[in-house]
Amino acid sequence: MKQYDYLIVGAGLFGAVFAHEAKKAGKKCLVIDKRDHIAGNIYTENVEGINVHRYGAHIFHTNNKAVWQYVNQFAEFNRYTNSPVANYHGQIYNLPFNMNTFNKMWGVVTPAEAKAKIEEQKAAAGITDPQNLEEQAISLVGTDIYEKLIKGYTGKQWGRPCTELPAFIIKRLPVRFTYDDNYFNALYQGIPNGGYTAMVEKMLAGTEVRLNVDYLDDKAALDALAEKVVYTGPVDAYFGYRLGALQYRSVRFETEVLDTDNYQGNAVVNYTDAETPYTRIIEHKHFEFGTQPKTVISREYSAEWKKGDEPYYPVNDEKNGALYAQYKALADAEPGVIFGGRLGEYKYYDMDKVIEVALDVAAKELA
Ligand code: FAD
Repeated sequence: MKQYDYLIVGAGLFGAVFAHEAKKAGKKCLVIDKRDHIAGNIYTENVEGINVHRYGAHIFHTNNKAVWQYVNQFAEFNRYTNSPVANYHGQIYNLPFNMNTFNKMWGVVTPAEAKAKIEEQKAAAGITDPQNLEEQAISLVGTDIYEKLIKGYTGKQWGRPCTELPAFIIKRLPVRFTYDDNYFNALYQGIPNGGYTAMVEKMLAGTEVRLNVDYLDDKAALDALAEKVVYTGPVDAYFGYRLGALQYRSVRFETEVLDTDNYQGNAVVNYTDAETPYTRIIEHKHFEFGTQPKTVISREYSAEWKKGDEPYYPVNDEKNGALYAQYKALADAEPGVIFGGRLGEYKYYDMDKVIEVALDVAAKELA
């Protein structure tokens, strides 16, 4: 008999949900994380009384009622609704593209006028078979929206001009002919009062957690402690990158405390021109309607990823897809190890999806 039923590698959302379910089922777990904190990428830390999202802005949104009820056991959610704005050379436009955007752009008032304007621009561009992302975007929403709201932002996100990006990246663009600035089309949305770290802390209540422990540095000794392993770290790292490294797109955050109570009047402002080097500025206090005397902002820079950088967005191209398929075959054949989460499955997962999958895995495993 080993000391623990499960060794859970990673104290992020996947690991925390699994740990909570296992504890409820009477199992003994040890959770480890190589970082000095729990909560993985949804970690929030208190700076000047403000919950700062260290690894990027996180807005909880879901259509899954069971997941919504599940998270509400651990936190009360506020009424935050994501309504980002775009700043194009000092002009402000509402996002996602909706009647407020079109009114500001063209002075149109009715949906029929907006549709006519878009159709007119699409026809003038005369693109029938889009060959790159620029042509694809213009053929979907016309020239003005492309030039002011897509071109610079998308170019910065991918580190390449839209003319050099493949058309398939944007199959469709959300265009709304209502005066509705609610970004997510989700039934349930909000930010946990008190931040995500407190929510994850509740999920992990009663479970032993050890921080600053890298599983791969001491694998054999840690494996000896538990019957089974739940691994939520990078799948290629687990196998010593023996087939090569999976690629990611990274983000760099520059966070600053400012001596003003309200810097930009909104939590999320996208800079859609090509000249501003960052893609967005997040003003964290607005996620929780903060009234603190100071404010904290993070400028986000999209960045090329090198091995050793923080992995953020998996690159969903053919090459990485094929490489992941090979790692997945190795993972499936690994006895006593469950691979899960965004890194373990090399997949972009929203938080609600991570919870849904972790609950499914736990239900099967613990049945
Ligand atoms: P993680 O949170 O990454 O947890 C994995 C943990 O494993 C980490 O803490 C890591 O330190 C640890 N670990 C790795 N290797 C080892 C090792 N060898 N030893 C010990 N520990 C190890 N989702 C939304 O729903 N809404 C949003 O607004 C949203 N915004 C996002 C913004 C950005 C910039 C990004 C990148 C993602 C966003 N997401 C959002 C997705 C969200 O971050 C993920 O769904 C969630 O963090 C995934 O949880 P996880 O447990 O799978 O991974």
